[in-house]
Amino acid sequence: MKNIASVYKIGHGPSSSHTVGPYRAAMQFKQSYPDADEFRVTLYGSLALTGEGHSTAKAIMSALPNAVVRSDRRAKKLPHPNTMLFEVIKDGQLIKSQRVLSVGGGQVKLEGESSRDEEEIYELESFSGISGYCREHGITLNQYIAAKEPELKDHLHLIWQAMRREVEAGLKCEGELPGELHIRRKAKLLYEKRCYNESADVTMNRLVAAYAFAASEQNASEEIVVTAPTCGACGVIPAVFYYMQNDRGFPEEEILDALAVAGLLGNLIRTNASISGAECGCQAEIGSACSMAAGGLAVLYKLSTDQIEYAAEIAMEHNLGLTCDPICGLVQIPCIERNAVAAMRAMSAVNLSRFLFQTRKISFDEVISTMYRTGKDMNEKYRETSHGGLAEIYRSKQNT
Ligand code: SF4
Repeated sequence: MKNIASVYKIGHGPSSSHTVGPYRAAMQFKQSYPDADEFRVTLYGSLALTGEGHSTAKAIMSALPNAVVRSDRRAKKLPHPNTMLFEVIKDGQLIKSQRVLSVGGGQVKLEGESSRDEEEIYELESFSGISGYCREHGITLNQYIAAKEPELKDHLHLIWQAMRREVEAGLKCEGELPGELHIRRKAKLLYEKRCYNESADVTMNRLVAAYAFAASEQNASEEIVVTAPTCGACGVIPAVFYYMQNDRGFPEEEILDALAVAGLLGNLIRTNASISGAECGCQAEIGSACSMAAGGLAVLYKLSTDQIEYAAEIAMEHNLGLTCDPICGLVQIPCIERNAVAAMRAMSAVNLSRFLFQTRKISFDEVISTMYRTGKDMNEKYRETSHGGLAEIYRSKQNT
């Protein structure tokens, strides 16, 4: 299994597999063929179907200004729903033709190869294997991670600063998000609009939602965000942990431990299932983020490994079957609100796990395997094509 550090990438929104991954692939071609006269890039599958809403062509052209980018919405039998063909032209000749897969969270692979830009670190690739190892050696999940990735804390410090910046910047912004939906930003309003006689519970939910909206609205505005584990789901983890640090006073050192375990959970999900909405629907993005946030929050509360596992399992279980149907291909509806709801759900999952962990019947490994199989069974139109669900209803309303 690859390193946890690569779960958290800093890049431009609005979609890690549609902007961060294609940008990174384009940069690799630029560096490998500095003398090329021209690059041609063809987008297939979800990359083609979500069109301008997901800004894929723009991301590629920011790395390769001389690229010609076109979309092929009809191609079938693709190696992955997010496939790109890169062609390199020199002196009028095609000197390289390569299909590249954007597999989620900004990670890219050449067709037929595993990802080369991220190190293989972990021999154990299941939660049961890792928790069993920790039990046998009398160590915590954080101690296990530190032994495998001694440099991770430094990376997580930078990641946490970037997450804090995206929340804080989003809380200050007003006005409309880009795109044809003309949605007004709401994070600042949620943050400032205290109700008369507001109870502590309502304040907590309002603030967590405000932080999730702030990060997600920054993402929708194509600002710099952190994949957690994707851009579309980038608001869930920062919302929960920002609340715990800012409003509950947890120190940064403990937030970094929580981020490390959240990253381990995300790593297990991307290794054994998927974090790509185009591959498995929104359960793979928001479900994964919710699960990671719940597991990380259980670490902050110093719960046991069994309770951490159960919190992560509950959070994923109740996102099973969640479809991806972004209206107009924009990462706005249902995405922004969904980040807020998932952040609150992660907190509820931890509360249940405190009391009920001894009665559980389903393991974390089982729930992620179920998520993957559910995603594979899901009708293609609910997997980031903007052809099903809310996207379809909205379009039909516009056409009447
Ligand atoms: S619906 Fe979910 S998976 Fe789809 S674009 Fe929005 S956040 Fe991403």
